[in-house]
Amino acid sequence: CGIVGYIGQREAQPILINGLKKLEYRGYDSAGIAVYENGEIRLEKSVGRLSNLEKKLEKSPMKGSIGIGHTRWATHGRPSDMNSHPHMDERQQFAVVHNGIIENFLEIKEELLKKGVTFKSETDTEVIAHLLADLYDGDLVSTVQKAVARMEGAYALGIININEPDKLVAVRLASPLVVGLGENENFIASDIPALIEHTRDVYILNDGEMAVITADRVQLMSTTGELIERTPFHVEWDV
Ligand code: GLU
Repeated sequence: CGIVGYIGQREAQPILINGLKKLEYRGYDSAGIAVYENGEIRLEKSVGRLSNLEKKLEKSPMKGSIGIGHTRWATHGRPSDMNSHPHMDERQQFAVVHNGIIENFLEIKEELLKKGVTFKSETDTEVIAHLLADLYDGDLVSTVQKAVARMEGAYALGIININEPDKLVAVRLASPLVVGLGENENFIASDIPALIEHTRDVYILNDGEMAVITADRVQLMSTTGELIERTPFHVEWDV
């Protein structure tokens, strides 16, 4: 139900957790984050309040400057640690957070099951992680475009890949997503209030658009690859 993402120079974990707190008003039953740390993507997730997740992280905080986070409002699969987001593929190359519903997930799941893919959760979201891994062509952006072409439904997505740890990809179709523009750091969130302590300059994604985000650049494009030029929106109001 809420998505956040960070890429920059600072520690991602506190920024992700704070952002998720700002999105709590949207409601949720579980929460999780994934951070790129020392050549791997570390995952921590927990059913229940954000404080449950924070407790798990206390013992060994994640160290890394790129990550994604999620508060879940379950639609497919009961609230549980395993069904919480982020979701990853078998080789743990991709981490995905998702708001919305993938309407044709069963069809995609059956196809992947036939190829021998093992699923860990009951969610529609997990198919996205495995689909990305199945379609992976060595390039994160074109792989995301190929996967999105297969997916029907409503989704806001935040995606990271272990081979391009300087990049965060955001996708929107019928589920809100905003990109926040900072100095040598950039953000994604489901809503502006989660960004406002960091920046007032944002891109509001439209349906069928994606953003390819590095620490110092944001490129908007359609999910079919046409580049989009847009002036950032400056938020004047206070939250
Ligand atoms: N359909 C997904 C799930 O049940 C995402 C739900 C949400 O938007 O939080 O895991």
